[in-house]
Amino acid sequence: MGNVLVTGGAGYIGSHACKALKAAGHMPVTFDNLETGWQDAVKFGPFEQGTLLDRARLDEVFAKYQPVAVMHFAALSQVGESMSMPGLYWRNNVMGSLNLVEAAVAAGCLDFVFSSTCATYGDQDNVVLDENSAQHPINAYGASKRAIEDILRDFEASDGLRHVIFRYFNVAGADPDGEVGEFHQPETHLVPLMLDAIEGKRDALTIFGTDYDTPDGTCIRDYVHVCDLVDAHILGLKWLADGKGSRVFNLGTGHGFSVREVIDHSRAVTNRAVPFKEGARRAGDCTKLVSGSARAETELGWSPHRSTLKQMIADAWKWHQTGHYDQ
Ligand code: UDP
Repeated sequence: MGNVLVTGGAGYIGSHACKALKAAGHMPVTFDNLETGWQDAVKFGPFEQGTLLDRARLDEVFAKYQPVAVMHFAALSQVGESMSMPGLYWRNNVMGSLNLVEAAVAAGCLDFVFSSTCATYGDQDNVVLDENSAQHPINAYGASKRAIEDILRDFEASDGLRHVIFRYFNVAGADPDGEVGEFHQPETHLVPLMLDAIEGKRDALTIFGTDYDTPDGTCIRDYVHVCDLVDAHILGLKWLADGKGSRVFNLGTGHGFSVREVIDHSRAVTNRAVPFKEGARRAGDCTKLVSGSARAETELGWSPHRSTLKQMIADAWKWHQTGHYDQ
């Protein structure tokens, strides 16, 4: 127990992590530049505004709160944008994370939980990806996250930085209590875009590519509920506190759904038509990303019980209709 520094705590996943941390008896300290996060989403502990590129500011926050651990969510995370602006991703994600790691080590805060991604694996058609799969990212976002994983390993060797790396598959859903939820500006993710289209808040959803080598021609992804995902982070903190050492865990369910299947489920859950049209492929998209998730379940005791597509869409729909942050 104690203070946990949560970078990106004002964002979608970070805000859910803060809620879970508080419920588990920790004090989440949010560090966020509010470029893509929302001050309204910081509800469960203190807030410190700042950028990871400012080392002095990081040192100040470590000195003020003396955190026992770091949970590092802050990152740019749009695959398409990373392809057109790779420099932004390398500078923000990699250099920012390097500053954070160095500040943590300097402060003697050596338990570190990192939000990585299945995008580090790249396109490996028709295989289920486990933690030992090769990492060949095909977009700058995935490449930047893989580089940060390497940084963590090097600082473990030099300074004893203990880390748990979580490679997320596709995160969806929202806090069932409606306190926090998913809200990006601009929005690029499939589920919230689809819910907007259902409500007529934006034009029809465009399916990015219908000529992939999958049964219905659309990309397949493994969707995991944000509440299950952050539960794994609490288990990851305990794993480190128990001295079990650095480890990588995939977080997914092992079940893949195509874009068309997500549309079908959304129609069923909301009982509303989903306006969509078929479009071109989006640069950087892998055909299929499905997790071999046995390790998190057997070693961490993780159970992604909320991660049915139906439940994720139902919780996202509820948030969509009732929750919002002031812009
Ligand atoms: N997708 C789509 N139309 C959209 C947004 C996403 O067809 O407007 C597809 C995208 O090509 C991918 C899946 O939905 O196959 C999930 O994309 P998202 O951006 O939500 O997450 P990512 O897989 O990029 O992390």
